[in-house]
Amino acid sequence: APAPPPARHLFSSPAEVEALRGNLLAWYDRCKRDLPWRALVRADIGKRRPALLPAVWVSEIMLQQTQVATVIHYYNRWMQKWPTLQALAEASLEEVNELWAGLGYYSRGKRLQEAARKVVTELAGQMPRTAEELQKLLPGVGRYTAGAIASISYGQATGVVDGNVIRVLCRLRCIGADSSSPAVIDWLWDLANALVDRSRPGDFNQALMELGATVCVPKAPLCRECPVKQHCQAWRRKLFGKPPAVPDVEDCGKRVGDCPLCPPATEPWDSSLGVTNFPRKAAKKPPRAMRTATCVLERRGCHGAPEYLIVQRPSSGLLAGLWEFPSLPLAQDLQEEKEREELADHLQAWMGQPVAAKGLRFIGEVIHIFSHIHQTYVVYSLHIDGDVTLDPALSPSRWVTEDEFRASAVSTAMKKV
Ligand code: SF4
Repeated sequence: APAPPPARHLFSSPAEVEALRGNLLAWYDRCKRDLPWRALVRADIGKRRPALLPAVWVSEIMLQQTQVATVIHYYNRWMQKWPTLQALAEASLEEVNELWAGLGYYSRGKRLQEAARKVVTELAGQMPRTAEELQKLLPGVGRYTAGAIASISYGQATGVVDGNVIRVLCRLRCIGADSSSPAVIDWLWDLANALVDRSRPGDFNQALMELGATVCVPKAPLCRECPVKQHCQAWRRKLFGKPPAVPDVEDCGKRVGDCPLCPPATEPWDSSLGVTNFPRKAAKKPPRAMRTATCVLERRGCHGAPEYLIVQRPSSGLLAGLWEFPSLPLAQDLQEEKEREELADHLQAWMGQPVAAKGLRFIGEVIHIFSHIHQTYVVYSLHIDGDVTLDPALSPSRWVTEDEFRASAVSTAMKKV
């Protein structure tokens, strides 16, 4: 028989669960931030118009890996341009990429558009309404996003677990094992599903996330102002400490090292960290270093204004379908002279005429950090006199003015270049 769950990591009493829900929701009603998608979510729920693009879907996808302050501007433009599922389904990928430019993780916008198209063409315009169906039927909708849409837009009593919820729950229940491990993640989903308020699931989930975003923050949580501090094991432990000679057996009723949710025996509670002992994560792999040579090719346009050549990236992989200056990934530790030669050869393919390596002017280096790549762009420039016929057999390419460049689907990294 499986071992009984360690009581310290559970909310075992229904009365405590009720009290926690009540305290959290009362705080949320008083203190929640006024965010644009919250107003629209209320409107969606009131009208139940199936053709509307669910506001929470767009906001949740945009908020993945991105700060609220950055998202608001993109969200407002998106909802103005494509307020309905039909409108988004009819948009081109180019339009989606142009609007998404600068928000990062571009596959999110692409999948959102593909999913809208699927709802319109295969599901008769009807959004799936449960977390299970949303996750199963819509591309780009994972367990978290499905739970958020189902609970916030359609009132299903289902929990959500995102980075904020992980932090809050790990602190509430003193969960100190690696918070990205399957055992901990499964436990947190069970806790979230058990805690979610049955009559106001969407508000409860937003309240838990809001608590993590504004009070139970990573570095300096505001425990004294926290509406659920009386239910928080980490806070209790910080207040009352524990006798040093007593082993961690008091934590959850298991011997040190036996509990899959307690901190490992090698990393016991550090009193200088207080509640920020939780959550804990295994050390991240360092990002991979990459070098890419890129060339800003410039010519005089027909009205005398400078124009620049941009080319489209492949339709899959990093920055799929976005536009960039002609670029070439480089081997590490290549001599500068060799870098120039390789870039000149690459440019020759675009221009259909020889390019002298020494004609390339070195401008500088631009560093851009993607989530898993530390990218260095080695930037060159080249002025061209006369016309260049671009080879249509290569990737799509075009000449743009500076204003057109800024309005195109180009990444933040290319704007830095
Ligand atoms: Fe987080 Fe502190 Fe509240 Fe506990 S008491 S949930 S650690 S803010």
